[in-house]
Amino acid sequence: MNKPDYDELIERLRGVADDYGGQLTEQAEADGYPLYHLDLPGPEGAPHFLLSAGIHGEEPGSTTGFLHWCERDLAKWLHIFHIEAFPCLNPWGFERGNRYDASGRDLNRCFREETPPPAVRMVREVTAGRRYAMAVDMHEDCDYYGFYVYERLEHGPNVAPALLQRIALEGPLSYGEEGDDPPIEQGLVHMPLPPGKSLIALAAGRPQWPLAFYLYHVADHVITVETPGRQPLDVRVRMQRAAAETALHFTQRRLGL
Ligand SMILES: [Zn+2]
Repeated sequence: MNKPDYDELIERLRGVADDYGGQLTEQAEADGYPLYHLDLPGPEGAPHFLLSAGIHGEEPGSTTGFLHWCERDLAKWLHIFHIEAFPCLNPWGFERGNRYDASGRDLNRCFREETPPPAVRMVREVTAGRRYAMAVDMHEDCDYYGFYVYERLEHGPNVAPALLQRIALEGPLSYGEEGDDPPIEQGLVHMPLPPGKSLIALAAGRPQWPLAFYLYHVADHVITVETPGRQPLDVRVRMQRAAAETALHFTQRRLGL
């Protein structure tokens, strides 16, 4: 895709679903666009792995990276994992290069709302009662030249070291910028969990939840990846693909599959 085109995205994802015996299902509508969930069942009893992209419309590398990962890398995982995805959570913003939805809301702050926007409600409804071995939320940071990742775990092992080693083959890691809060150290956002505190307890103390905070309740392991918007799109797409691949390899090993 040269420029973000939601119809083309959905058409290509439908091709992916058809090729691999999965389903692309319309689950909601927002700002005049249908919202989709992609479901690619693996073997009976396979652990579920969740990817989400495009909640911020001005981060096209996340949705485009996800699409390219589907078309090039996905097939080999379907004998191991049950893959689920929300490929583009803010299509209105995606087509306009706008972070927010048509009402000016940052959807990635709405996951604790009682009457949330349709995309948020869809994620909560589809994932309710399910358990994911890992969830990867794909983002970009438009102001950065280097990649970084958020990973907060109550107990290890962390995927970040392997992930950052792999990403560095595609482009620069972020070494942080002045005023970063929390600081970024060699691509890792430094955000240690207070001793004895659970991720659920951490989330409970926050009035607004990004998707990651919601995912703490349904996934054993959650990461948020941020590709650098100041690099060319093809570099960011390769980084997103590499991040998904490393997360899957790591989870496969962690579960002894
Ligand atoms: Zn974002």
